[in-house]
Amino acid sequence: MHKCDLERMSEKIRTFSKFGDAGHGGVTRYSLSPEALQARDYFAERMKAIGATIETDDVANMYATIPGSDPAAKRIVMGSHCDSVKNGGNYDGILGVIGAMEVLETVVEEGIPHKHPLTAMIWTNEEGSLYPPAMMCSGIVCHDFLPEDIAKNFKYEEKMQSTSVLDKQTTFGEMLENFKYKGDRKNRLNPDGYKCMFEMHIEQGPILEDAGNEIGVVDCVLGMFNYRVSFAGQSAHAGTFPMQKRKDALFAAAQALCHLHEEIDKLGYPELVYTTGELLIHPCVHTVIPDFVEFSLDVRHEKPEVRGQVLEIVQSLPQKEWAGCKCEIKEAWKRDTVYWDKKLVGYVEEAAKEMGVKHQYIHSGAGHDAQFAAYMMPTTMIFVVSKDGLSHCEPEYTSDEQCTTAATVLLNAVLRADAE
Ligand SMILES: [Zn+2]
Repeated sequence: MHKCDLERMSEKIRTFSKFGDAGHGGVTRYSLSPEALQARDYFAERMKAIGATIETDDVANMYATIPGSDPAAKRIVMGSHCDSVKNGGNYDGILGVIGAMEVLETVVEEGIPHKHPLTAMIWTNEEGSLYPPAMMCSGIVCHDFLPEDIAKNFKYEEKMQSTSVLDKQTTFGEMLENFKYKGDRKNRLNPDGYKCMFEMHIEQGPILEDAGNEIGVVDCVLGMFNYRVSFAGQSAHAGTFPMQKRKDALFAAAQALCHLHEEIDKLGYPELVYTTGELLIHPCVHTVIPDFVEFSLDVRHEKPEVRGQVLEIVQSLPQKEWAGCKCEIKEAWKRDTVYWDKKLVGYVEEAAKEMGVKHQYIHSGAGHDAQFAAYMMPTTMIFVVSKDGLSHCEPEYTSDEQCTTAATVLLNAVLRADAE
């Protein structure tokens, strides 16, 4: 069994954490920013040092490839993203890039024989923090393989018009045009040139830590649906209008939200998660009774039957009485559960077993670039434990030893895929 190197992993983790250092232990590294450019320069420099060929595609996804013994064999690709959310951590995304780099470095340093070319990859703009949406460039590259209702959200020309959330003017396309690593469309990830894909990532939840495990053998990305629920009432003066005559849209929404929690919890599925993270209030003035409120509802579970039961509860809302207000619901978007390739999942499990590392099967509740790649080629993910389940924040943490263990699982799973 081959092993990755702790010191080399630590060096990469520390170095990447400087690019966009936000000053309190984490990073702000938006896609296509000067900080992202530093991270990519370092990626290119290290990969060139081991003799890898660097290629970039038309949305600046980066590919570093070392040859295998069979020049006709398809490439095996590993990768993730190097952009972060605002005040994010040093692990989300970048750890998958570091792990892929470490696999290539280990293979070259130790002269590990392999048949297929091996590629370490950086996806552009996974977080979509500055230029929405999330997973933009995997969506664009995998567009033609995606189901129609997902593909429609990732049209190249439309996404180039995505404007910066900071100035509402600069477009993703303009920034991309001047970005050092914008390359050629012919270099895009594709199923003719690539055999399969692995993405290593932090878990971003507490399941592994609570169970005393270090590695998650990921079997799927959870299916989900997202609804907008709105309430229309009547505005009036807060001081002059009697309570019994009011149609307060916020009071209606608050009642509906409590109702949703009660009814959904009654279903009794411990793995079901649902979230209201967005709330719009009009006119949002402290002396005016709100006349319009809309909230989001994000629901995730592996089984379509379970999501269906929650949907029935959501769909029953407009027929009920909500403080005299009119309730409307609208689907924002949905996706089915994406299952990883069984053979690749098996390789990850075998590698973890062989190493004697504590592991378990786990679902991914979050979306990742790999889920779009899965429509194009056999794909899987490896999770590594997140301290206190925290992510998308500066205290995000996984020890160097745990990161190295995960990279070793990745290496040995890749070598199994190479040997098949
Ligand atoms: Zn991520």
